[in-house]
Amino acid sequence: MASGNISALERLRKSSISVRDIAAQLWCEKQMELYILHGTPFTQAMAMGRQVHAKEQEKVFVKLPVEPVTWFDRLYKWAYENYNGIMNMQKKGYCREVRIYGSINGYKVSGQIDELRLDNNKVVVVEDKTISDIGSKNGVGQRVDSDKMQLSIYKKLIDDIKHGSYTYDNFARSYEIEGKTLSAQFIQGIRTLGIKDELLNLDGIYKKMFDAIAKMPEISEIVRLRYLDRSTNELITTMDMQYDRKNLDAYLSDAIKYWSGQRDARPVSEENKSRCMSCKFFGKQCTVWWRIPNQQSSAT
Ligand code: SF4
Repeated sequence: MASGNISALERLRKSSISVRDIAAQLWCEKQMELYILHGTPFTQAMAMGRQVHAKEQEKVFVKLPVEPVTWFDRLYKWAYENYNGIMNMQKKGYCREVRIYGSINGYKVSGQIDELRLDNNKVVVVEDKTISDIGSKNGVGQRVDSDKMQLSIYKKLIDDIKHGSYTYDNFARSYEIEGKTLSAQFIQGIRTLGIKDELLNLDGIYKKMFDAIAKMPEISEIVRLRYLDRSTNELITTMDMQYDRKNLDAYLSDAIKYWSGQRDARPVSEENKSRCMSCKFFGKQCTVWWRIPNQQSSAT
């Protein structure tokens, strides 16, 4: 085992892996790890991107108007919002910000899908990426492989629930929710919304949510990437891509070797070292491809 005989999860003090991180491994695994270790600074570009997402979300998202007090209240809120979003999809044609849970090679995985959209009676998984330069389409496609991987993992996790290979019971065990209670203040708040008694607890609402996911129409074999202008929210381009399960499985079995500690984080290959030029860790926390005049890089 690499890195002192402990898994990356233990070393990074994480209890689960985000879909976003698994997809980011495809761009540069070392960069993904450095972002976890050093944090991601909240930039103006990210704030603008978040505004774009929020505008879209406002159109269909059913927010639970009660503030959670405890962690379990928060878990309840997410399930309630997920359930209502999925149920509304038939009426509105789409839903936004859907939380998804699952397991990859026994590792707990979670993510938040930007959009599920009904298209010819199938559900298409959609991810929005915001970029800045609408004139030249600069930035579109630079990370298309990892963006597509993110979408493919989301589709796999939904398929796993629909096919019964990841169920409410798996979720309840892994998140240890059985028998956990909500705060009295939160229950009082949600009771006023007219929610049925059997849904006023974590078991009830999560069973409903998993049932709603399992009963969704078939998930399309096409996944969709949409690039939006960061400041105007204008659609720049849409890319529909074929889901490739074989390629996904091969990628995941290699990606998980990092999380299990079988190997250390890999930097980009020499062929892709131009990616380092836009990396905030280049020459600081990562010197793999850093060349000081008259010296060889540490990778050679
Ligand atoms: S400098 Fe290059 S190799 Fe190092 S983390 Fe950044 S992108 Fe990866």
